[in-house]
Amino acid sequence: RSNAEKFEFQAEVSRLMDILINSLYSNKDIFLRELISNASDALDKIRFLSLTDKEVLGEGDDTKLEIQIKLDKENKILFIRDRGVGMTKEDLIKNLGTIAKSGTSAFVEKMQTGGDLNLIGQFGVGFYSVYLVADYVEVISKHNDDKQYVWESKADGAFAISEDTYNEPLGRGTEIRLHLREEAGEYLEESKLKELVKKYSEFINFPIYLWATKEVDVEVPAEEDDSSDDEEKPESTEGEEKEDEDSDKEEDEEKPKTKTIKEKTYEWERLNDVKAIWLRSPKEVTEEEYTKFYHSLAKDFGDEKPMAWSHFNAEGDVEFKAVLFVPPKAPADLYESYYNANKSNLKLYVRRVFISDEFDELLPKYLSFLLGLVDSDTLPLNVSREMLQQHSSLKTIKKKLIRKALDMIRKLAEEDPDEIHDKEKKEVEESKENDEKRGHTTLEGKLTSLDQYISRMKSGQKDIFYITGSSKEQLEKSPFLERLKKKNLEVIFFTDPVDEYLMQYLMDYEDKKFQNVSKEGLKLGKDSKDKEIKESFKELTKWWKESLASENVDDVKISNRLADTPCVVVTSKYGWSANMERIMQSQTL
Ligand code: ADP
Ligand code: MG
Repeated sequence: RSNAEKFEFQAEVSRLMDILINSLYSNKDIFLRELISNASDALDKIRFLSLTDKEVLGEGDDTKLEIQIKLDKENKILFIRDRGVGMTKEDLIKNLGTIAKSGTSAFVEKMQTGGDLNLIGQFGVGFYSVYLVADYVEVISKHNDDKQYVWESKADGAFAISEDTYNEPLGRGTEIRLHLREEAGEYLEESKLKELVKKYSEFINFPIYLWATKEVDVEVPAEEDDSSDDEEKPESTEGEEKEDEDSDKEEDEEKPKTKTIKEKTYEWERLNDVKAIWLRSPKEVTEEEYTKFYHSLAKDFGDEKPMAWSHFNAEGDVEFKAVLFVPPKAPADLYESYYNANKSNLKLYVRRVFISDEFDELLPKYLSFLLGLVDSDTLPLNVSREMLQQHSSLKTIKKKLIRKALDMIRKLAEEDPDEIHDKEKKEVEESKENDEKRGHTTLEGKLTSLDQYISRMKSGQKDIFYITGSSKEQLEKSPFLERLKKKNLEVIFFTDPVDEYLMQYLMDYEDKKFQNVSKEGLKLGKDSKDKEIKESFKELTKWWKESLASENVDDVKISNRLADTPCVVVTSKYGWSANMERIMQSQTL
């Protein structure tokens, strides 16, 4: 095109596209849900803008917030269009090629070591999955603030942008045209597209339509149709049909000469009409539906089930509905979300309208590994995100969310530990290297629940003893356990980083305090010689404390926690444990 401007893809983006276009990956289906997810995001954006400015929606068809899919079998083109916010010329240049997202190189790296393409959406580069099935892609887009533009690329390291003077005006929104590769013909089948939308995009909150063939009954004059002898009579067999037809014809002589035939037409067929899960009663939602909903929230379409979920309806001064999930495994970006104030795994809706997934006010950091959604009827709709962020209802919502979240986690821990054990055992068998099991103890050597631990506590034992670290093997060697082992006191091993975060918050359980045995404050009962020993080493401890003062050592004490090891560094009561320091350090490198 004569008016086209040429651009080169940013290097990492180009590498990513190379990988995709040359991929032999078998599950190419994923491109469709990525495009639908982008369309849905764009619709969310325009709907949000329209809360404070009705004008942005325009008029007529442009006000319809929907997604349309169309096929051109002859030319092997698949069209996906939305009436979302659209992209300006600058957006097209930035979003689709010249600026690499932070996840781009991480994803490229993963792919080169045999990672799962299925997770492309999690890395923020889902759009490029179009090159799994197409060798030429056009993106036509119209944003309220700009003219209509076409972005196009054959994945050859460059893309072109031109003002669109030849296609029909879109009004507002984006149309993606995929020129499908020879071997991707299946995506020109309506049944395939219907199946994919059903499978992956069921929870999209905007209507998705397919321009689908439909057979309709049409009355036609009988003579004109004499040659077409294949009139349907579904119940009859072929032989009978012929007989029937012959006799029909004889009778027809006197009757009005019309008959009904099937004719193919097209119409918009809605593919999704499931009511949003969180609006339904928890009793009506099946386990499978929660699992699928989790997959769509997590952008992880594997077959793992979430470990637990909590779906509830809060009433009173502040009304909201929420669904919270404990993921089956720690997300790849757990620590990133821990540090990044603007990242949250909770989506906030106000009266069914998506507002933001960047509200970190909704859950405290130690629960940031949870995924879910909150839809509030109490929060105002027509204010800015900033004002919402300060709304007093948020505090109440947060409080209730925390309570529900901890309830859910607690229940999980109390679940029949044998069952968890079996599940974990299976996992271990599958991957022999990964031999860590949550909640092992020094005594049992197998998983335990807190209730079981408490039932085994020694008389006089007030605290629940635990220790955190990276593996059971490492913890078993810990000098912190020496004395406890001698006294036959049971200590729980927490080896999952999530445990470390959780333990910062969980102070007690059933009136028993949690005591990290590597921290200050461990009380193991008095020994008659304690006082004597303390006295005789008084000078030494004093000298030591003074000499180490410059090394960030707060105190030097005679300890009764050790048996064989001469001395040990202990963390202060309120400070990070050594394990937490390790986790944090591994994140800041
Ligand atoms: P992500 O959706 O995670 O941001 P993608 O690679 O899927 O990553 O999309 C990149 C960006 O391109 C989006 O963030 C968005 O700004 C823009 N974009 C893609 N599709 C559309 C669309 N249909 N309408 C408007 N913007 C879009
Ligand atoms: Mg996307």
